Amino acid sequence: MSTRLLFFICLLATAAVPCAQAQELKRSGTFLVALDIGHSPKTPGAYSARGVPEYEFNKRMTRLIAADLRQQPGVSVLVVNESGREIPILERGDVANRAKADLFLSVHHDSVNERYKVTRLLEGRMARLSEKFHGYSVFFSDKNAQPGPSFEFAKQLGRAMREQGMVPTAHHAEKIPGEGRDFVVPQHGVYRFNDLLVLKRARMPAVLLECGVIVHPEEEAELNTPERQRKIVTAVREAVLAMRAL
Ligand SMILES: [Zn+2]
Repeated sequence: MSTRLLFFICLLATAAVPCAQAQELKRSGTFLVALDIGHSPKTPGAYSARGVPEYEFNKRMTRLIAADLRQQPGVSVLVVNESGREIPILERGDVANRAKADLFLSVHHDSVNERYKVTRLLEGRMARLSEKFHGYSVFFSDKNAQPGPSFEFAKQLGRAMREQGMVPTAHHAEKIPGEGRDFVVPQHGVYRFNDLLVLKRARMPAVLLECGVIVHPEEEAELNTPERQRKIVTAVREAVLAMRAL
């Protein structure tokens, strides 16, 4: 396709998919993975034990995952919200739908219920933190258009995270307000969470990954290491390649 024609198509295309990304998607025949950086600069999600917004963890991890997946033959990547603009939850799925992505992964870092947090001094500042829970979680929704493949993607990712030596956390299954999720594959950290909007809206198999608990001071420190980040990147790559092979 000529550059000029592509330019006009880009002008006509929705503003939600920037032109550079649209050009990348022109590589036909590739397995397109949509990556969603959880939250946004203005609504950044949880705060870590050291006071760092979750969004910053999500952005860093998504970029590492994207860079790795782009090295895989036959795989292309769309970062749904690369620019950091404010984007409603439902629109994230829409961006992936319009791009006809084959998989959708929303990247998050976890917190715990307020009842488990304490206020204490950490490295010279007063911090809200918890040492009660640590570990990763993987969520899928039966209300996604493809519940079976979504569950499969969640299982592949949960197993790959475990095989990389990370441990799942069970705290989202606790029967308290705000938790009580259906812990479907406990040994691999896989939960059913039907009303997660970002997963419901996507028409392709979709999963949300909580990479680890950032309100836990030691797990936060570990999540900042290249070793832990490499394990997560490897697990995502293995799960994506397993889904592509189906
Ligand atoms: Zn989050």
